[in-house]
Amino acid sequence: MEDLLKVDEEIYALVRQEEIRQTSKIRLIASENYVSTAVLEATGSVLTNKYSEGYPGKRYYEGQQIIDQVETIAIARAKTLFGAEHANVQPYSGSPANLAVYLAFLNCGDTILGMALPHGGHLTHGSPVSISGRYFNAQSYQLDPATGLLDYEAIAEKARSCRPKIIIAGHSAYPRILDFARFREIADEVGALLMVDMAHFAGLVAGGAHPSPVPYADVVTTTTHKSLRGPRGAMILCREKYAQAIDKAVFPGVQGGPHDNTTAAIAVALKEASTQEFRQYARQIVNNAAALAENLMARGYRLITNGTENHLMLVDVTNKGISGKKAARILDAAGIVLNCNAIPFDTRKPYDPSGIRLGTAAVTTRGFKEPEMLEVGRLLDEVISDPENEATHARIAAEVRDLCSAFPAPGLEHVV
Ligand SMILES: *Cc1c(COP(=O)(O)O)cnc(C)c1O
Repeated sequence: MEDLLKVDEEIYALVRQEEIRQTSKIRLIASENYVSTAVLEATGSVLTNKYSEGYPGKRYYEGQQIIDQVETIAIARAKTLFGAEHANVQPYSGSPANLAVYLAFLNCGDTILGMALPHGGHLTHGSPVSISGRYFNAQSYQLDPATGLLDYEAIAEKARSCRPKIIIAGHSAYPRILDFARFREIADEVGALLMVDMAHFAGLVAGGAHPSPVPYADVVTTTTHKSLRGPRGAMILCREKYAQAIDKAVFPGVQGGPHDNTTAAIAVALKEASTQEFRQYARQIVNNAAALAENLMARGYRLITNGTENHLMLVDVTNKGISGKKAARILDAAGIVLNCNAIPFDTRKPYDPSGIRLGTAAVTTRGFKEPEMLEVGRLLDEVISDPENEATHARIAAEVRDLCSAFPAPGLEHVV
């Protein structure tokens, strides 16, 4: 980064500091990861200089000899990896991808049915603060209060009464595998389209560690930067009969020119995700989450649904005498980075809820396995058991740095 240093010392220094932070901390934010150096290189390439409104073979500007090939490769890899009939790789991120789906199929005021935000759904699934909740009649389904699990009969009941045009399955904080066949049945019964937002678990699907929604859903959206371990971006997969509607909704419906450097990096990430190594990675993410969940439960933590089947877990820290925000803050000071999170039927406020969310995609990328996850459980518990003692937090932060130094993260091997 010599040129960055010459041009802008301030930003250079901050990038270096962020490299150190990402290297020396245990990153458990369930939506984050470490991309490969190859993905970083494609993201940072001169493809960022190109404008290419339109789609391969049908562009508004000239000079697309190379870009058309890049996007065609990315589309082909997405279709092959996920077994989809059509793929659009242009959405700038997960939220605009979801907006494009709504634009493709809905008019203002139409009804959508998604998982409630405080129960693990995403903002874009109809939250009142999002365009999805303001421009559409957003109805939501909740978790079963007793088990914390999806209650499919209740979802069906809700769908029968509100008759949504689109039913959205998918989440940012649900620790269990979704029953896509059941969602399909419900959608068919009420004549709704089924949209699955697999942003969080797309990497598990790609690696065969989670069932695929593609055979069941009319449309599947996903970010590319979470468990899929690509650049920040998104994709929409759909049946051929919806291809034109989806493509038109992305461009010119919601977006202008695609970010071609990102498209190239998505292609690289999809190639990586097609390998045997990635299948092992996906399996290890799930095994690591299971190991950490077991360890935390053995230490007296209450996990929503009593465990996990995917990459994430939701922990209610109330019985530890601490709030979610406080827990997240002191853990960050001790080098363990995660986020506070509402638990189902939380009685606390969203900014300071009762829970914390932990995910294993990033630590698994740097090579953590079950023994390291037990260490993570121990370190986390020591911090939460001694919330006011800054000396403890500093001691744990040093232990975290030691543990991390044995597991260099991709793209950060040069950081000491
Ligand atoms: C992260 C996420 C998104 C949005 O992705 P952004 O890239 O942050 O816009 C959408 N849906 C779900 C389920 C997510 O978890």
